[in-house]
Amino acid sequence: MRILVMSDIHANYTALTAVLNEAGEVDETWCLGDLVGYGPDPNAVVEEMRDIKNLTCLLGNHDVAITGKMPLETFNGDARKSLTYHEKVISASNVDFLNSLPSKTKVRGEATMAHGSPRDPLWEYILNTLTARLNYDHFTTPWCFVGHSHIQCMFALDEKKDRVTLEQTKPDVTVQLHPKLILNPGSVGQPRDRDPRAAFAIYDSEAHTWTPRRAEYNIVEVQERIREAGLPEKHAARLAEGW
Ligand code: ZN
Repeated sequence: MRILVMSDIHANYTALTAVLNEAGEVDETWCLGDLVGYGPDPNAVVEEMRDIKNLTCLLGNHDVAITGKMPLETFNGDARKSLTYHEKVISASNVDFLNSLPSKTKVRGEATMAHGSPRDPLWEYILNTLTARLNYDHFTTPWCFVGHSHIQCMFALDEKKDRVTLEQTKPDVTVQLHPKLILNPGSVGQPRDRDPRAAFAIYDSEAHTWTPRRAEYNIVEVQERIREAGLPEKHAARLAEGW
């Protein structure tokens, strides 16, 4: 099966449609969460996601905030401003959809999926080899897909030496999967790895390959909508440089 794996769309509808176009025909779509937060288009993004066939979608920490199950004070000032706006404009049926998403890890075949980490699915960032090492004890499949950090990368565990390495994967360079890997497709709507293009990955569940990809999109147009909505300037500025 050819599977589109993506995460952290963050209400950026233009980036989402660019990714769906670039990915082309897929058998399934796996989304690791955070449909809302930061960007200008919460309703358009959730509606687009609801239309995707064969979708598996996890709940992200920003999504939980919108469903009212977590106080917005949990988030820092600028993130909170966007969430307050999203809470105000999002439709009831889109909130119902977010409410239906699972907040725990999901296992499909050889892959475990989590928004943040298998150990703490909603909140933990896997940003370094130490955190990655601790998380290897929390999944049993050969590989695990995570989002949340907005960085397209891969952790590998050498089981004999008990050593973890971190590699920034390269767009369009296919990785042949082997146990034990933790892979992050990067963020669709707010990349933080200094490449402003929308990030995603194509997972082939039979050939056991993972191809990180990037899609160009009209960033200026999204920045304009962020400013029109009165959202923090920081959320507009960072899109141009990917931080
Ligand atoms: Zn996120």
